[in-house]
Amino acid sequence: MTLAVKHIDALKALLGPKGHKTNPDDVAPHLHEWRDRWQGHTPLLAMPGDTAQVGDLVRYCAEHKIAITPQGGNTGLVGAQIPQGEILLLTSRLNKVRSLDASNATMTVEAGVTLASARAAAADAGLLFPLSLASEGSATMGGVLSTNAGGMEVLRYGNARDLALGLEVVTPRGEMLDDLKGLRKDNSGYDLKQVFIGAEGTLGVITAAVVKLYPPPPFRLTAWCALQTVDDAIALLAHLRHRYGDAISKFELVPQIGVDYALKNVPGNRAPLSPSAPWHVLLELGLFAPPGGDHTLEQVLASALQNGRITDAAIAQSDTQAMQFVRMRESLSAAQKGEGLALKHDISVPVSAIAKFIETASAEVQSLMPASRIFAFGHVGDGNVHFDVLQPLQTKAHAFETCAPHITKAVYTTVLALGGSISAEHGIGVLKRTELRHQKSKVQMQAMRAIKTAFDPDNIMNPRVLF
Ligand SMILES: Cc1cc2nc3c(=O)[nH]c(=O)nc-3n(C[C@H](O)[C@H](O)[C@H](O)COP(=O)(O)OP(=O)(O)OC[C@H]3O[C@@H](n4cnc5c(N)ncnc54)[C@H](O)[C@@H]3O)c2cc1C
Repeated sequence: MTLAVKHIDALKALLGPKGHKTNPDDVAPHLHEWRDRWQGHTPLLAMPGDTAQVGDLVRYCAEHKIAITPQGGNTGLVGAQIPQGEILLLTSRLNKVRSLDASNATMTVEAGVTLASARAAAADAGLLFPLSLASEGSATMGGVLSTNAGGMEVLRYGNARDLALGLEVVTPRGEMLDDLKGLRKDNSGYDLKQVFIGAEGTLGVITAAVVKLYPPPPFRLTAWCALQTVDDAIALLAHLRHRYGDAISKFELVPQIGVDYALKNVPGNRAPLSPSAPWHVLLELGLFAPPGGDHTLEQVLASALQNGRITDAAIAQSDTQAMQFVRMRESLSAAQKGEGLALKHDISVPVSAIAKFIETASAEVQSLMPASRIFAFGHVGDGNVHFDVLQPLQTKAHAFETCAPHITKAVYTTVLALGGSISAEHGIGVLKRTELRHQKSKVQMQAMRAIKTAFDPDNIMNPRVLF
């Protein structure tokens, strides 16, 4: 559907000269995403300057039934932020840290503030905003809340959902829902903010949020371990939990193929250990006092080495070395670029079922397309595996593409049989709409539709996403 010129002109007038862009060169980067999977188009790139202007824009669109796609940093991985004819509402001008309350350990940030800037603002006040993603230089606070992003420190601090105390939202009717409270206790009816978190822009535009801050642990210990099996990694996690409890902030599984491709395809990486091993774990502890006696990380890893849970380990001796370990892990998505087609599955299962999942799903994939390169990695401390399948080296792209739906079906069937989820942290977007119906029951889908209809009866907010 093309949008009538009179509406485009009215919206431009409403937004003012700073509030929209029409030059194709300015608009183009917002119509294409990181994985080169989706290419979009829009009649107007709207850049409202404050919450009131978001309200004006959405009210006009609601009145005329004009669809909107909100976009933050355009780092989403399921196509939900790419418009296909909708107005593109970019939050980049909602870029203020409104306030920081150190005594309450909270910060009020606008939706277009990047995650890196939010973390820097907290650090300037001697505090930590713990959400951390490889995409944090571009990903925005509105985006991370709308996708309920996870990342590498979920084990200790939770997902974006766990870090939000209050929200300001412009609903699809253009009304402002102001719930910008910094309360850790508030049992006054439905917790409405939770409906908007993870809604992928289908229920309104998040314009600001109050988020939790933490004291940064002064002692960070980072290590890289080599292991024979995924079972060993899970046993190591349990072992560390008994020693360090919630102080484990990162526990990331890395396959040898990940190390190899990160070294080959992402400049600047160095192998943390040699020789190679089937599996690796990046782990990090955040402590308020250095561990002593047989609780030192050296001691704990030495005992893991002795009882065969790990085959080798390196503890970072400097911040630079710690950053090299983390960088290696963060390179794993980029490491796949240049290796042909990659079928990505962002799934979760109970931590106790991770090894079984990887084993079963790998066998299923190999039976469908032998020589597929299985690239399974991720935040296994919280049950999240990025189970990526790379095109076999000797197979043509077309043959792989033909087999792809069968591979994905086999992977998701394994996930569901183990009580897991087909989307751990990236969302449903337009990529997994069909599969969502297999995971959710009829009652769950009805409830989700009822919520959507209650907030957005004319289906103007991200209309192609989720359903
Ligand atoms: C290299 C790389 C690494 C990544 N690592 C992780 C990871 O470890 N964990 C993880 O969870 N994700 C990860 N991601 C995915 C991505 O970074 C997150 O989903 C992020 O939260 C998206 O933020 P964004 O601002 O870019 O949102 P966008 O991509 O712009 O939008 C994502 C969704 O949010 C909606 N949206 C955006 N802003 C608003 C708003 N203000 N109000 C309402 N809806 C809005 C959009 O419509 C869309 O549905 C990674 C991505 C890349 C490229």
